[in-house]
Amino acid sequence: MQPLDFAIPEKGQLTQLADDLYWAQFDLPFRLNHINLYMIDTANGWVLIDAGLGDQVTRDQWAVLLAGPLAHQPVCQIIISHHHVDHLGSAAWLQDQTQAPVFTSEGELSQIDWLFNLPEDDFSAIMANAYTSYGLPEDDIEQVRQGGSRFRQMVPALPEFNLIGAGDTITSRHGVWQIRNDHGHSHDHLSFMDHDRGLYIAIDFLLPRISPNISADISNIDYDRLAQYFTYLEDMQHLADEVQVFPGHDWPFSHGGKRAASLIDHHHERLGLLRVALDQSPMTTNDAMAVLFGRKFDPHSLYFASGEARAHLIHLVSRGEAEMQRQDGKPDQFFRKTTS
Ligand SMILES: [Zn+2]
Repeated sequence: MQPLDFAIPEKGQLTQLADDLYWAQFDLPFRLNHINLYMIDTANGWVLIDAGLGDQVTRDQWAVLLAGPLAHQPVCQIIISHHHVDHLGSAAWLQDQTQAPVFTSEGELSQIDWLFNLPEDDFSAIMANAYTSYGLPEDDIEQVRQGGSRFRQMVPALPEFNLIGAGDTITSRHGVWQIRNDHGHSHDHLSFMDHDRGLYIAIDFLLPRISPNISADISNIDYDRLAQYFTYLEDMQHLADEVQVFPGHDWPFSHGGKRAASLIDHHHERLGLLRVALDQSPMTTNDAMAVLFGRKFDPHSLYFASGEARAHLIHLVSRGEAEMQRQDGKPDQFFRKTTS
């Protein structure tokens, strides 16, 4: 990974990344304190990639951009790369403001619909059951049991969605972007590749500094998301050094293939740590979290950290290297299973 020499955009301004590609950075009220949003310039107007969080700070930032650097042409399309609240939250508001059609992938849309329509009590119960299965402390379980839907809190409304995905393209003023669907960090994540110009809007699947969160998802905590992410990374390993990669967080970079390879190593290292710990004794997801991170998390980060620990344990199970035992209402226990 090598950072590219672009200035981080000031609030209310855009940084030009290519003849027809622009970058804005929006604030987030989390430990990861910002998100990158991208705007593609086309003959029909702006294609906006992602909407930002569903809060007033985000809407204020959009209002400045829509009245300023984006004002000279209409917004013709809004594409939501995946269902995470920092990408989706303001989509309905943005559709109201611009009257532009909103698109996402089929897999992300089904996850969005499920999360949005889940009654508050059901959401809390699913979270509390997941945390119970993980063996998290009772205080943390109680907090999510009382917490309602963290999705609805950050996604106040949904736009009307259209579907888009692999096989579709975006024709911009100077190029053609192929859309790809990938699985791992989220269910059916969209990213955008201009092969001829060597430009790749990777969003959250390839990040330069942090490892994209690979979490057990509350819709199915036993699903092997890490295997899917390895499939993506193995493909991305072949990305040419000179391709410019534009991520959902932090800064644009080159040498994305090497970054993909180092993320593969990173996850194998984590699997290795869990194998060693499982050789000593059976463990819960909470134990695995202590092995991998060894620190306390705030409630927002705990969701990602426990989900990440869980996803690695589940991957060991699907590789036949561990076994999970479940008893209703009790933490799932993982045991080492040696392969011959
Ligand atoms: Zn994400």
